[in-house]
Amino acid sequence: MDLTFLGSSNAFAADGRYWSSFIVDNKYLFDAPPTLLPHLKQLGVNLREIETVFLSHHHGDHFMGMPFLFLEYFYVTERKDDLYIVGPPGVKDWIEDFSERCYPSVCGDAGYRRVYIDASPGEEQIAGNVTFTSIPMSHDIDKMDALGYRANINGKTVAYTGDTMLCDEIYELAEGADVLVVDCTYAEGSGPVHMGIDDIKVIRKNLPPEVTIVLTHLNGQPNTNGLENVITAQDLKTFHFD
Ligand SMILES: [Zn+2]
Ligand SMILES: [Zn+2]
Repeated sequence: MDLTFLGSSNAFAADGRYWSSFIVDNKYLFDAPPTLLPHLKQLGVNLREIETVFLSHHHGDHFMGMPFLFLEYFYVTERKDDLYIVGPPGVKDWIEDFSERCYPSVCGDAGYRRVYIDASPGEEQIAGNVTFTSIPMSHDIDKMDALGYRANINGKTVAYTGDTMLCDEIYELAEGADVLVVDCTYAEGSGPVHMGIDDIKVIRKNLPPEVTIVLTHLNGQPNTNGLENVITAQDLKTFHFD
């Protein structure tokens, strides 16, 4: 399994890094930041082969790339296969309305279907070839839903917290996962609203050592010395898992 980061930073593009998101096996996207389209092109991803986009929550650094992807499919790259878009309940209205405000008519008929799937936390669901589960995380939850995902992709299990503070649900999310991609916004200390390196130390202690933890949504470079099987995301870098 190949896991490629498009970006690795938080909403402030700290240190000039790009907003965090990653793609698995060049087909399954986790979050869609404003720079989605240029980064997919820089990476040489075949845009026709993107099957599913998992959206964690309503913050702009996680979804604002969607209208540009639709624009690309409308005018430039012909696609016929369904595109699955998974997100918190109401994802269809949210994404289609936002996209139409950016480019009127971009959600018109372009020869493919956008299949929206409301995440139903705790239930096993299917999007195309992938089974997944969503779990509510702890991130600005008085304002919106924030979801983590666990997806079974080509025989591997990828878990992604999206943005969150440390919470017990992370362990539920990581159960049986090969890789856990986590919010590590703070290079020092822990919370609020997001996690920091001290939270990662707690998670590392509580998870089986074989689960690889990947830090993203960074604001500064965290020091991972002494932490086994913890790696740090980098813009446009691919990590391979056997
Ligand atoms: Zn964010
Ligand atoms: Zn957020």
